[in-house]
Amino acid sequence: MSTELIHLQDLQYNVAGLLKGPVGNTRSYDFRIPVSQLDQLDESFDVTGPFIGVVRFLKSSETVLVQLHGEVTIGQACSRCLEPFDSIVEVEFEEEFHPSVDIASGRVLQDTGDDAALVIDLHHILDLTELVRQAIIIALPITPLCREDCAGLCLICGANLNTEQCDCQEVDIDPRWEALSALIQIE
Ligand SMILES: [Zn+2]
Ligand SMILES: [Zn+2]
Repeated sequence: MSTELIHLQDLQYNVAGLLKGPVGNTRSYDFRIPVSQLDQLDESFDVTGPFIGVVRFLKSSETVLVQLHGEVTIGQACSRCLEPFDSIVEVEFEEEFHPSVDIASGRVLQDTGDDAALVIDLHHILDLTELVRQAIIIALPITPLCREDCAGLCLICGANLNTEQCDCQEVDIDPRWEALSALIQIE
C-alpha cells in the first residue's frame, strides 16, 4: 500500500500508475482546488471559495474505488431576504470507476457500466467533476437561509427587516370580516 500526499489542483487524475499496480494498490492525495477551476461547475450555485479535502483511490480487480471527503464554499441567495451569502458545504462520496481500456494489453473494454460519469477514459483519466457537482447539489439546502432567524423582507414595502425597520404595520383583521374584505379587494 502506497500513500502519497501531493497537492492536487484539479478534479481529473491520471490513474495509469495505479491501474498498472497490483489489486489493493492505493493512493491518497490532499487537494486544494481553486475557485477558478470550479466556477463553471453548475448554474444553480456559485463556488466562492476553494474546494479542500482528501481523495483516496483503491484499485480492485476490475474497478477503481474513489473515496472523497472535502469542503467547499458556496454562495447562494437567502430564500427569505434574497441577500447573497456564503456557506461551507461538506462534499463526500464513495464510488467505483470502470476503466475503458485494459492497461496491460491496450484492449478497449466494452462493459464499462452504465453511468458515463463513472468511466475512466481511454487515456486513463478519472474525472471527478460530475460527482462533485452532484454531491454539492445534494448537500445544498432546499431553502437556504442566511441565518436561522433571518427576518426576511417586509411583505408590504419590501424592506430587508434584518437591516432596516419600516413603518408598515400588519393590520389585524377580525377573521369574521376576512371574507368581506376579500370581496372588497376584488372590486
Ligand atoms: Zn436572509
Ligand atoms: Zn414595510
